[in-house]
Amino acid sequence: IVTPRVALVTGTSSGIGEAVVRHFCSLGHQVLAVDFNPAGQEVAEQAGAAFFQADLTDGEACKAAVSEAVKRFGRVDILVNNAGIQHVSPIEAFPEAKWRQIIDLMLTAPFLLTQAAWPSMRENGWGRIVNIASVHAQVASPGKSAYISAKHGMIGLTKTAALEGGAQGITANAICPAYVKTPLVDNQIADQARLHGMQEQEVIEQIMLKNAAVKRLIEPAEVAELVAYLASDAAGAVTGASWNIDLGWTAQ
Ligand code: NAD
Repeated sequence: IVTPRVALVTGTSSGIGEAVVRHFCSLGHQVLAVDFNPAGQEVAEQAGAAFFQADLTDGEACKAAVSEAVKRFGRVDILVNNAGIQHVSPIEAFPEAKWRQIIDLMLTAPFLLTQAAWPSMRENGWGRIVNIASVHAQVASPGKSAYISAKHGMIGLTKTAALEGGAQGITANAICPAYVKTPLVDNQIADQARLHGMQEQEVIEQIMLKNAAVKRLIEPAEVAELVAYLASDAAGAVTGASWNIDLGWTAQ
């Protein structure tokens, strides 16, 4: 039996965030889905969640999202920081504006959302922060400096939140997936295929799964299951941890 909670999930119009919203709704949680893409409205409605449109690169929008959850549902129990983008370019040519956008969205927004949701969690003596990081929070690949820096930083934020939240009933954990079957990855497959003159299936097998022991892409629902566990009462002793769902990538 799952205790119904109030959850704020970011980056919900597709991929992992969408899967988390669906899974949380199926468990009976009240969910505020937050995304800058208006398509998130329909996704949320179908799942039975509320929707709040916000560009999370804007700090005020982060605060407004938490205020909206508190206004609608009275509190925030679970925060899932998931919204993210990718940009691939060598450091020498990496546009500064892209770097700043990625750090704003994938490191500063999780910090601001954590900060804004904290008082509600502290007052209730119960909170769960789940940060969707990446295998690229553990290891690097060329061309992804901003993404990898943001994700490594997210692990630091997770550990600090865990230490500060321990006495207040608030846990914070990160999930580190390898390639998940989502639009973010579909775009990368198409880009790499063009770049290397390869078939898309060859890109998946020879590039994306090169370091994988389990030779397949991950399903968004598989990530959502782990998010739900980390957000549950059962996971109260789990905090400050990074959970790999990486097909064995970092085992070597
Ligand atoms: P996705 O592109 O399907 O979803 C990303 C979501 O973030 C979208 O709904 C998008 O609209 C939203 N978003 C983007 N910019 C935003 C902004 N400025 N404000 C608000 N929302 C914004 O991608 P996904 O693969 O589901 O990625 C979700 C998270 O998982 C990301 O943080 C990503 O880094 C991480 N991740 C993905 C993979 C993978 O292989 N797909 C692997 C490891 C980690």
